[in-house]
Amino acid sequence: MKILVPVKRVVDYNVKVRVKSDGSGVDIANVKMSMNPFDEIAIEEAVRLKEAGKVTEVVAVSCGVTQCQETLRTGMAIGADRGILVETAVELEPLGVAKLLKALADKEQPQLIILGKQAIDDDSNQTGQMLAALLGWPQATFASKVVLEDGKATVTREVDGGLETLSLTLPAIVTTDLRLNEPRYVTLPNIMKAKKKPLDTVMPEDLGVDVAPRLKTLKVAEPAKRSAGIKVPDVATLVAKLRTEAKVI
Ligand code: AMP
Repeated sequence: MKILVPVKRVVDYNVKVRVKSDGSGVDIANVKMSMNPFDEIAIEEAVRLKEAGKVTEVVAVSCGVTQCQETLRTGMAIGADRGILVETAVELEPLGVAKLLKALADKEQPQLIILGKQAIDDDSNQTGQMLAALLGWPQATFASKVVLEDGKATVTREVDGGLETLSLTLPAIVTTDLRLNEPRYVTLPNIMKAKKKPLDTVMPEDLGVDVAPRLKTLKVAEPAKRSAGIKVPDVATLVAKLRTEAKVI
């Protein structure tokens, strides 16, 4: 059984992003890029399923610029067996990525596709759901536990009121939540081994997919600056200010 894991190259979560002065987007020149954290969790889960003997192959896929190869190598250092880069300089939107992944799924015939629940750059939380719709496969989003048995995936999901458990017939789509697992540290020997693993490159045209953008960003703005706080001499003044100025009590 094969698992496909889409991994996105995003601005590292430790970087404080700057909005471009013309408000057209975020400045990513000379900024550290890494694998989307939810996708690290997805790769880790797929590798654990392989280590448990439930899966025979884990294939990492990344769509985007040439440098996504680094993201794929990280995936292979965690334990993916091979990588596929769908190379394009077009700024991809979730629908475009979902169409590329559908074309790859048709070719690769995985039984399970594990995606991150969202990419921390665009915060769309759409690709997994769109892919499930395009493939006509069942989906379980925000997974905190995945068990594979007898051609079924039993997935525990984090929902507002607690936990929900779903049984999906394979092939299926799962998206990862933060508490699914804690990804392992990549070790130097595994980074070296990953360099030798196969990495194929295809173009969107090879897959017959048009990735032209459908959305237009009108404006990107930073959050309003918070004004400085003040010190009050005593509790009575604090209560008075909360009542008369902030009007919250
Ligand atoms: P999003 O819908 O953009 O929030 O992304 C959700 C998930 O879809 C990510 O966590 C990835 O697993 C996958 N994904 C999104 N964009 C890409 C991409 N360019 N390449 C590979 N996987 C992607």
